[in-house]
Amino acid sequence: MIVCFASECAYCRSSIVSGQGWVRVKVYDPALNGRDPSYHCYPAEPIAGQEGSCWEKHEMEREIGRTTAHAA
Ligand SMILES: [Zn+2]
Repeated sequence: MIVCFASECAYCRSSIVSGQGWVRVKVYDPALNGRDPSYHCYPAEPIAGQEGSCWEKHEMEREIGRTTAHAA
């Protein structure tokens, strides 16, 4: 069983409900050089009343950031 080390969504800081589908992303913090990476967790399912899940929003922002960086 996969265990999410974070108890909250890395995107909106809402608590991750047990049993909810989510995505775990390994994050290497340059400040922790040589240390164990940390994990960010994003719910893969949209919260009721919201468009798209936090994971989709996070991915979208990442794409936008990448595009901007390339354009600069
Ligand atoms: Zn969230």
